[in-house]
Amino acid sequence: MTGTTPAPFTADDYGARMERAARSAADAGLAGLLVAPGPDLVWLTGYAPTAVTERLTLLVLAPGRDPVLVVPTLEAPDAGQAAGAPALTLRDWTDGQDPYAVTAGLLDARGRFGVSDNAWAMHLLGLQRTLPGTSYASLTDALPMLRAVKDAAELDLLAAAGAAADQAFEEIRTVPFAGRRESDVGHDLAALLRRFGHSQVDFTIVGSGPNGANPHHEVGDRVIQDGDMVVLDFGGLKDGYGSDTTRTVHVGEPTDEERRVHDVVRAAQEAGFRAVRPGAACQEVDRAARAVIADAGYGPYFIHRTGHGIGVTTHEPPYMIEGEEQPLVPGMCFSVEPGIYLPGRFGVRIEDIVTVTRDGGRRLNNTTREMVIVG
Ligand code: ZN
Ligand code: ZN
Ligand code: ZN
Repeated sequence: MTGTTPAPFTADDYGARMERAARSAADAGLAGLLVAPGPDLVWLTGYAPTAVTERLTLLVLAPGRDPVLVVPTLEAPDAGQAAGAPALTLRDWTDGQDPYAVTAGLLDARGRFGVSDNAWAMHLLGLQRTLPGTSYASLTDALPMLRAVKDAAELDLLAAAGAAADQAFEEIRTVPFAGRRESDVGHDLAALLRRFGHSQVDFTIVGSGPNGANPHHEVGDRVIQDGDMVVLDFGGLKDGYGSDTTRTVHVGEPTDEERRVHDVVRAAQEAGFRAVRPGAACQEVDRAARAVIADAGYGPYFIHRTGHGIGVTTHEPPYMIEGEEQPLVPGMCFSVEPGIYLPGRFGVRIEDIVTVTRDGGRRLNNTTREMVIVG
């Protein structure tokens, strides 16, 4: 993602987000937040530098103070164009100046600060050197729910990204699979996501036959065969918000076992979806999906968590995983994506993005979850 986010957010929206972030930081016992270029900065200010370089860019948020963006002088004009710029003060520094001294002038000399996870180590080390009385925490660890509850405009963007991914699936199911390489189908998927409005493609997994049993497999040179199960998992960013969906298709007629495994995953995905309601703990979504797979005897073959949040990134809190007691709140958005992976043979995964509503959940992916037969 480059430039500013073309989302319908105003300086007031960004100002409110920054204010809430500063307040949440204070509630968490932090003296402030330090936010480097990346998803947190985009969400808080709408600013995404065209290139992230060794020159320090850092948003400084502290309760009761105006937000300040420390920015290299040569990037200040771009930063000033960001949608959130009117809600903050730019503090530029020029080559030859010490950017850590500039930043230190904005901070308490003692205190614990939350730092965005993608801040460069060299920058954090520079701050520690300049302000030895300070300490630092991961922003995501300290405020995991900062970006988790989406507002109405964000939900519209996520729904539009999901609809675009669905369109890509409706097209890809019509292309020939047998005799083509996984990488060819992956290329088609990426092109379709772009055609339907994605500016960024984050992943196009095409796991055919035994490759489908490895959830991390992306695409390879394997030539897809008649009789293969093929896991298709793809997504990226459209207008600054993420898509991520999985369907498992079959080339030609499936065997009874392939049908059975697909049915179990579909029932598990449905059970996970039905567990979504305000107040339920994240882990209940995982438990509901996992129970269906365990009851069918495939428990040891479901080898990952059931879901992850999505927003301005395609992987973020909240996580649907055993041990996560965070209650679901209307507006949260995450995947429900159980799978069964039979080593050396095939895999099946079905994934929808789901948002929490006042009385349950709503899917943002709506293509058929029945097994699709491809050619
Ligand atoms: Zn087969
Ligand atoms: Zn996925
Ligand atoms: Zn996912």
